[in-house]
Amino acid sequence: MHCLHLLRCPVCHAHLEHEGATLRCARSHTFDIAREGYVNLLRKKQAGDTKEMVQARRSFLERGFYQPLADTLNTLVSAYLREHASPINVLDAGCGEGYYLGRLQQSLSQQEQLCLLGLDVAKDAIRMAAKRYPCASFVVANLKERLVIADESIHVLLNIFAPRNPAEFARVMMPAGRLIVVIPGAEHMAQLRSTLPLLQIEENKQQHIVEQFAPYFTLLEAVPVSYELDLKREEVQQLVMMTPNYWHLSDEARRAMSTIQSLRTQVAFICLAFQKSVEG
Ligand SMILES: [Zn+2]
Repeated sequence: MHCLHLLRCPVCHAHLEHEGATLRCARSHTFDIAREGYVNLLRKKQAGDTKEMVQARRSFLERGFYQPLADTLNTLVSAYLREHASPINVLDAGCGEGYYLGRLQQSLSQQEQLCLLGLDVAKDAIRMAAKRYPCASFVVANLKERLVIADESIHVLLNIFAPRNPAEFARVMMPAGRLIVVIPGAEHMAQLRSTLPLLQIEENKQQHIVEQFAPYFTLLEAVPVSYELDLKREEVQQLVMMTPNYWHLSDEARRAMSTIQSLRTQVAFICLAFQKSVEG
């Protein structure tokens, strides 16, 4: 594991050391390193995205549909890194099958001493990520509990359509570290929403999130990314199945989805860049 120095035991929070094909802390809590190179630091099994959801997401993202979002994230991270010396530690909290860390790694290939670490509760997602992006490190972990990450060790924390844990994000980040939270904009999938009974986007989501992070983080900028996509039926299905809509789809909605030949829809994201507050 490249980023082992950033990891902590999920049970006692001590350092972890390599011992054969395991990671082990001083109190002998032991975690197997999988063949693909990732490690599972869940204390007990948690439900995450299913294999079907993860595969839909990989197929959809591989077609480059969200590349403008990835490019925007890379620009925000690069701007931050220009002001900071190496080594740089980047954590993607809720990394899924690793797409955004993979794009970031490509864009930062000149950067020396770069540690890219992805956490996700979905083992299927982490397995796929570890196979595809061997230059990064991936860990199955619960974002809602104490994070398996050392105090003040992370320079850049990405949180892209994923669960948020403001107090823990603040604990693991370096002073003046950069947090980038991506949320859907109000117009995200608008045409698709008018065609299918999908989950609604929370009103005032941006304001709600800024307030949620306010005890620890100051908002620096909100960068909107918005454009249209022309999707074929299969791609529409992938877009729906890769989101929490997967859990809420009625038979009626599935039938309606299967009749769509093609669709032009808006996608809209807001990248919220925060700086850790000094007193945080
Ligand atoms: Zn331990």
